[in-house]
Amino acid sequence: MNIIENQRLELSGELSFDTTDVKTASLDFGGMSRVEPLAVLHPGSVNDVMSLVKSAYDSAELTQGFTVSAKGHGHSINGQAQTGNGVVIEMSGSKGNRFSESTKPVLGALSGNGEVKYYVDVWGGELWVDLLKWSLEYGLAPKSWTDYLYLSVGGTLSNAGISGQAFNHGPQISNVYELDVVTGKGELLTCSKEKNSELFHGALGGLGQFGIITRARIALEHAPQKVRWIRVLYSDFTAFTSDQEYLISLHGKPSSEKFDYVEGFVIVDEGLVNNWRSSFFSPRNPVKVSSLTTKEGGVLYCLEITKNYDESTADTVNQEVEALLKKLNFIPSSVFTTDLPYVDFLNRVHKAELKLRSKGLWDVPHPWLNLFVPKSRIADFDKGVFKGILGNKTSGPILIYPMNRDNWDHRSSVVIPDEDTFYLVALLRSALDSADETQSLDHLRNQNQRILEFCDEAGINVKQYLPNYSTQEEWKIHFGDRWNLFLKRKMEFDPKYILATGQHIFQPLF
Ligand code: FAD
Repeated sequence: MNIIENQRLELSGELSFDTTDVKTASLDFGGMSRVEPLAVLHPGSVNDVMSLVKSAYDSAELTQGFTVSAKGHGHSINGQAQTGNGVVIEMSGSKGNRFSESTKPVLGALSGNGEVKYYVDVWGGELWVDLLKWSLEYGLAPKSWTDYLYLSVGGTLSNAGISGQAFNHGPQISNVYELDVVTGKGELLTCSKEKNSELFHGALGGLGQFGIITRARIALEHAPQKVRWIRVLYSDFTAFTSDQEYLISLHGKPSSEKFDYVEGFVIVDEGLVNNWRSSFFSPRNPVKVSSLTTKEGGVLYCLEITKNYDESTADTVNQEVEALLKKLNFIPSSVFTTDLPYVDFLNRVHKAELKLRSKGLWDVPHPWLNLFVPKSRIADFDKGVFKGILGNKTSGPILIYPMNRDNWDHRSSVVIPDEDTFYLVALLRSALDSADETQSLDHLRNQNQRILEFCDEAGINVKQYLPNYSTQEEWKIHFGDRWNLFLKRKMEFDPKYILATGQHIFQPLF
């Protein structure tokens, strides 16, 4: 019998010791870390979350204290939502009360200055894909997204939540008006920029360290009906990044004068180049991609942009797109275009997921590395990593796109480079048990390590996104001069270090 079994918790959900539940809670998308909790809570309401955390807080002085980790959809890479000596709360699980009346999304509006701003109050464990489907029924949608939607609201808000809309609207954490958070003391606090603001800013990007987000009030906008999705190619890195930077510099302009989404990716792999056409949609002007790779060590760069439109703006979308494309310096005749419903564009990665699942290539280890790279050093990164360390094998997509610092709130917990513009570089690789050693987990992990060492030696001040460190010393370096604020917030909201211990930032006191 452990202490959790002895707790007299009055729950409307279920505290489960079932081996299947425990096993499920011990896994994540990364597939590289496996830690079994003592039990799993399927919460029936916010009161269940409070009761469990309060009980952990009260037991923390005892030798048999226990920890609590919220788990959203378990799409972390390095066991961030796991805990070995405590309880995992399945915030997004279907066994709890996620779809009950008390946790259903609620539409609301704020008015002021002659403007009405719509928002939704949503349960922290809700998946973005479900929130999208719900909001579209009102003709509305959140403004800022991740590329993949089977992630929980609380999980992405604990990191930042970024995609090609971030240059325009900021990350998801910049599009939240209010949160309900159960702190590490088991108290439920409502917080916003005006009320309990330290908790609000702390929880956003806070890696689950200050509390469990049970409700988020998320900004909504009018949802477009359709998307024009365009890809163009570059063999010259400077031309590629200059165009990306130009496009994100338009973020203050009227929507007719800018794109709605700006991303990009690197094509290093010969295999990817050869398969590239088949993995994409019908080109307007067919181009022989392999003939373009002779320059710059065979590396190609693809700019990916979109323009949203409705029936009412369908007539002008061609002109607006043409005017913007004219300003860019991509390889002539490398324009690939398709039109699709907004929901299909946002949910595009799910299509790839289904394909990979059918080939048994989804549930494999994912040694992903996500870095924020300052704009001033992105060309050095290109030379050293894309054209250097990676060789001509990547084992998965490599995303690269810039963002503007000014729509990130510096009071939040997330750490970003100290430059007005910085890039996300996401090496989203899958390890395979194949004869090809360059696809093995060890090889990819060593390569990640070499990339980090290269940045260190070259003085490129990258910051990890979805950071992963195992010692507090490394975390202190990650946070830099923001560490003291992070620690102060921890002492205030989770003084017994009970929450989200899978991040390995603080050790519990027992
Ligand atoms: P989990 O992995 O369950 O949890 C992550 C952390 O947050 C843990 O520490 C956990 O304890 C904590 N946590 C979870 N729920 C709560 C809560 N309610 N309150 C407080 N803390 C909580 N990220 C992007 O920004 N952009 C992308 O485009 C993007 N694409 C992705 C695509 C795929 C296929 C995958 C696997 C991941 C992607 N991510 C992306 C990363 C993703 O945003 C993070 O891994 C996120 O944490 C996943 O959410 P989750 O619900 O699975 O969280």
